[in-house]
Amino acid sequence: MPIAEGFAQRLLPVLEELVAAYGTPFHIYDAQGIVDTHRSMVSAFGTEPFRQYFAVKALPNPAVLSMLLDEGSGLDCASPTELALADQVGAGGEDVVFTSNNTAGWEYDLARTAGALITFDDRVIFDRAEPLPETVAFRVSPHGLAQRSKLMGDAAGTKFGVPVAELADAYRAARRRGVTRFGIHGMTFANELDVGHAGRSSAAVVECAARVAEEVGIAFDYINVGGGLGIPYRPGERPVDFRAYADVILAARRRCFPDGTAPRILMECGRYVTGPHGVLVTRVVNRVRKGRDIIGVDASMSSLMRPGFYGAYHHLTLPYATGRPERAFDVVGSLCENMDKFAVDRTLPEPHEGDIALIHDTGAHGHAMGFTYNGRLRPAELLMTPTGEVVEIRRAEDFTDYVATVRWQPKPVLAAPSAMPSAQQAGDPR
Ligand SMILES: *Cc1c(COP(=O)(O)O)cnc(C)c1O
Repeated sequence: MPIAEGFAQRLLPVLEELVAAYGTPFHIYDAQGIVDTHRSMVSAFGTEPFRQYFAVKALPNPAVLSMLLDEGSGLDCASPTELALADQVGAGGEDVVFTSNNTAGWEYDLARTAGALITFDDRVIFDRAEPLPETVAFRVSPHGLAQRSKLMGDAAGTKFGVPVAELADAYRAARRRGVTRFGIHGMTFANELDVGHAGRSSAAVVECAARVAEEVGIAFDYINVGGGLGIPYRPGERPVDFRAYADVILAARRRCFPDGTAPRILMECGRYVTGPHGVLVTRVVNRVRKGRDIIGVDASMSSLMRPGFYGAYHHLTLPYATGRPERAFDVVGSLCENMDKFAVDRTLPEPHEGDIALIHDTGAHGHAMGFTYNGRLRPAELLMTPTGEVVEIRRAEDFTDYVATVRWQPKPVLAAPSAMPSAQQAGDPR
């Protein structure tokens, strides 16, 4: 979607100056937009007990995480590295939820010692975990309404969670092992824009929680409905009406837990919070015709993987080229991969070399999914503060980073066998 009006008003007047002074490419995020989105989520739940835990994987930059923590957000981590980052920015105890899958016991141990709220993704890992955290939550597999989601998998094909039919048994096992506090997790959609579907799916998780609570005879401290709310990447798509979504969840909660035992609601949105509040700023370096009209820019898929990898749409504009004649272009980076295209067959104004191009909605799963293939290293991350100051919150990678993990002197990890059997001894054929 075209960059938000407030961000555009703050960024566009200074963008040429910024690019001239700093160079390209870089991602730049809008602090005000991120904070405003977080606040609107909180206010949609009013006085009901609710906490949003930002999914660290979407934008794992300490400046952004700290800013969200200051707003009362928690952090959703899925790996030891993300737990360490959360710790580094001062998120402790129940400021952190740990929702991970296919995860080793020692990783859960780290989360437990950090005091995080832990979601167990399967029984095997839970049965091995010792000691258990004070609060135990299981993730319920996508079921029922979740069938539609490609990213989450359907009930038969998913890798996530405990099948709904085995859930009660899992909680009974937890209770047998002395657990007294319980949560439940159900993330059943990804990049979902249809508020009707999102609401019904999350309401189904609330209903599932109520059934399990009744069947097992436990009370849930919280229901975590996960992340997965979408953002309008394409012009014409409409943002999720978050208030309507929250209302559906709260209504389900009142309906299912009428007697004052209602669990808190937690969420783990990433994309919804930061996605629209970032752009990748790049410049036109090439304009060529090879059967197709091609615009080459100085960023590549290693700065933003989604278009090349998923064919995901990211809106793209040449903000200072308006008024020029338009036609369809492919916009490409320089990786030795034909999939390294930010846009295919996109109608854009005729570019000039050096024109600034903006690739929109890179505030989530953008830089974070970057890589260094071809030695096209990850670019810088800048943050525009609410007062309009621009600060660097991550420098661009350079050659030193590229080789930082190289052992220039190879390091022995396995000694050669001391007595190599000679060819004759080793099975000399008769
Ligand atoms: C990826 C993920 C999230 C965040 O997803 P968004 O689409 O960024 O909201 C939250 N929880 C879990 C368990 C995830 O895997």
